[in-house]
Amino acid sequence: MERFQDKVVLITGGGSGLGRATALQIAKEGATLVLVDLNKEGLEESKKEILTETPEATVELIEANVAKEEEVKNYVDTTVNKFGKIDGFFNNAGIEGKQNLTEDYSIDEFQRVVDINLNGVFYGMKYVLKVMKKQGSGSIVNTASVGGIRGVGNQSGYAASKHGVVGLTKNSGIEYGQYGVSIKAIAPGAIMTPMVEGSLKQLGGENWEEAGKEFVSVNPMKRFGKPEEVGYLAAFLLSNQADFINATVIPIDGGQSYK
Ligand code: NAD
Repeated sequence: MERFQDKVVLITGGGSGLGRATALQIAKEGATLVLVDLNKEGLEESKKEILTETPEATVELIEANVAKEEEVKNYVDTTVNKFGKIDGFFNNAGIEGKQNLTEDYSIDEFQRVVDINLNGVFYGMKYVLKVMKKQGSGSIVNTASVGGIRGVGNQSGYAASKHGVVGLTKNSGIEYGQYGVSIKAIAPGAIMTPMVEGSLKQLGGENWEEAGKEFVSVNPMKRFGKPEEVGYLAAFLLSNQADFINATVIPIDGGQSYK
């Protein structure tokens, strides 16, 4: 039997990178998908790619800003009103923010990154957990980062927000395990998505591909991860096969965080 037959899965950041790769993967296994993103074109492109690979898939798109509590409440309510439940929640939207030394890192930038990466994840959990607790089942996968396990430098807002995502995961996993709900975080290393391409261009300009080689030289596997490799992990963690994995963080980084 397909792992996501009759399952409703909500994915934030579904208009690009890791969210899209995961959506493509689980659509093939029968999931009904609700994709949330700020980027309308990105959402439409995700839907197009999913329907090209899986023409029978059900894909609902919701344009929303995860940093706005009322928009989060609305995407959760809309999903439940339309499909009656939420089996899996990939709480994944995020940004990297500008790179800078801590003393030069602006307060506004710190606030912006934390608002999206940490507050957005918290709002999502707050409203989805109400639904899952009532159901007595569900899996939440929060996207943290290697930068949520160890320091990477020049990323005060990102590191603080992603360490916060790991903390939220551990805290709420302990609270909700008794209701049949599991909560886990993934900590991707450098995965080649539009986000990483953007930050390499910020670092290396026209020579961004060279900057990329330098970037992965610290990785034991000396390469970028592929979005679909994260998709395989997220799919497993969202499925019932991972119900007993709870309140923890799982790296997918070629060994970077524990080297
Ligand atoms: P991406 O830029 O390809 O995708 C992120 C998506 O999130 C985009 O479609 C963007 O529009 C959306 N988004 C951003 N802010 C939003 C907001 N306020 N409301 C709604 N949607 C918003 O990047 P990605 O690499 O797929 O990143 C996904 C997640 O993975 C992020 O949380 C990121 O921090 C994390 N991550 C990525 C890497 C990597 O190497 N790619 C490594 C570690 C962690």
